[in-house]
Amino acid sequence: MPTPASAGRWLTLADGVHARRYTELDQTLGLVVGSERALVVDTGRDEEHGAEFAAAIADLTLLPTVVVITHAHFDHCLGTVAFPGADVWAHERCQVDEHVFVERAEYYPGAPEPPLVAPTHRVRDMVELDLGGRTVRLVHPGRGHTDHDLAVYVPDAKVLFAGDLVEQGADPSIGPDSFPQQWPSALDELLQLDATIIVPGHGEPVDRAFVAWQRDRISAGST
Ligand SMILES: [Zn+2]
Repeated sequence: MPTPASAGRWLTLADGVHARRYTELDQTLGLVVGSERALVVDTGRDEEHGAEFAAAIADLTLLPTVVVITHAHFDHCLGTVAFPGADVWAHERCQVDEHVFVERAEYYPGAPEPPLVAPTHRVRDMVELDLGGRTVRLVHPGRGHTDHDLAVYVPDAKVLFAGDLVEQGADPSIGPDSFPQQWPSALDELLQLDATIIVPGHGEPVDRAFVAWQRDRISAGST
């Protein structure tokens, strides 16, 4: 059967640590599998995307899932409806409300509006989640792409899911809700972590040098 154009492809970054890449929006979602639970990093741009992602996850693991939303932009949070009953972690300022539809209408005018799923668990600065056999860290490094960016660090694999604080293949997206003055220090904060593989919200996984280069470009105002 031919692969539908909307389907993603898995990249395995470490044992039980995966990124799922999509042509649409050049997007990258994440999955961290423990022995008792699997952590889903962002859920996609709509119900259908979330369902594709959930089905692909079910091919890898049937463990119960826990969701983390890196920030409340439509392409990161509108697929959460495909993970019914899952705990949904986000930063305390992350508002999954009607505003995500406004942003999405600029990309997909007239698209149907999936049900909004609000976060159930909140992070202020840092929270550690035990997935069974491995602990992941949810880190708010300060304001940057938004005022509520949340990154996911997997210390045993040295993999960091950075949300849209890092973008490969294009300049970081500086929007009306971004904080370009504070963004470089948020990236410095992330570079304090011992990650060797950094997974952006859009584009291919990168290394520390790439993140430092992107920080310098944002500092210089050249993005
Ligand atoms: Zn974003």
